[in-house]
Amino acid sequence: MLTSISGKSVIVTGGSKGIGKGIAKVFAIKGAKVMIAARTEKDAAATVDEIKAAGGTADMFLCDVSDFDQVSALADYTAKTFGGIDILCANAGIFPQVKMVDMTADDWDQVMSTNLKSSFLCVKACIPYFEKSGKGRVVITSSITGPVTGYPGWSHYGASKAGQLGFIKTAAMELSRYNTTINAVMPGNIMTEGLADLGEDYLSSMANSIPLKRLGSVEDIANAALFFASDEAAYITGQQIVVDGGQILPE
Ligand code: NDP
Repeated sequence: MLTSISGKSVIVTGGSKGIGKGIAKVFAIKGAKVMIAARTEKDAAATVDEIKAAGGTADMFLCDVSDFDQVSALADYTAKTFGGIDILCANAGIFPQVKMVDMTADDWDQVMSTNLKSSFLCVKACIPYFEKSGKGRVVITSSITGPVTGYPGWSHYGASKAGQLGFIKTAAMELSRYNTTINAVMPGNIMTEGLADLGEDYLSSMANSIPLKRLGSVEDIANAALFFASDEAAYITGQQIVVDGGQILPE
């Protein structure tokens, strides 16, 4: 049983939907105070309501993670509301599919800003609070796509996700002076609202191609994030863990 994260203050970017919502709910069930960061008010408010209805503590802050002023305001608001920042789950991301032949420079920049630059911006905004408390935890949601595999239409996405793993190596060295760790979770195919549109046949053939014969759940990813955020992971930093049901293992 992992040390309790009860009472800890946690920011989850992209916490209004999908994997981030799963992380927010699992952390809240464990007693953490969760700040949901996203752009769409309706989704963020619905997640906050769900967590509160289950007896948890949550609040929301609307921001674009690719804008430093907005992310900085998120960190300030969280610290003011919850009395500090213990854990940052930098999870928000986008994955528009477009082959390079059609991809514009703006398409590339948008994905890199939302997925990769945001990781740096969110960490930077939290540093003053980690420094103040003398401790902190950062968990980045990367992917197997990019660092391990490729997928047509996702050259920008793959580059951003591989970039996150490059980022955490040096970030781990720099954050160590604040007694703060940074690690990444690399999900495989995870069942989120967005995937439901692909249809049952497609989803079941996807599941069958995975050694554990199912798509991942958002809780599978949340549990890995929970481990990195726990006291038991205090001596792990600059590392990544694949959570994919064995998808990337060779035949
Ligand atoms: P969803 O589309 O379900 O959720 C994305 C979340 O990010 C939403 O809360 C969205 O809210 C938020 N978001 C997107 N852009 C921004 C922005 N500019 N500023 C603030 N918030 C933003 O995605 P998933 O849950 O599927 O993915 C979450 C993370 O997991 C991503 O980093 C993705 O790359 C990674 N991942 C997902 C996999 C999967 O199978 N689902 C596999 C591997 C990795 P809003 O739009 O309102 O801002």
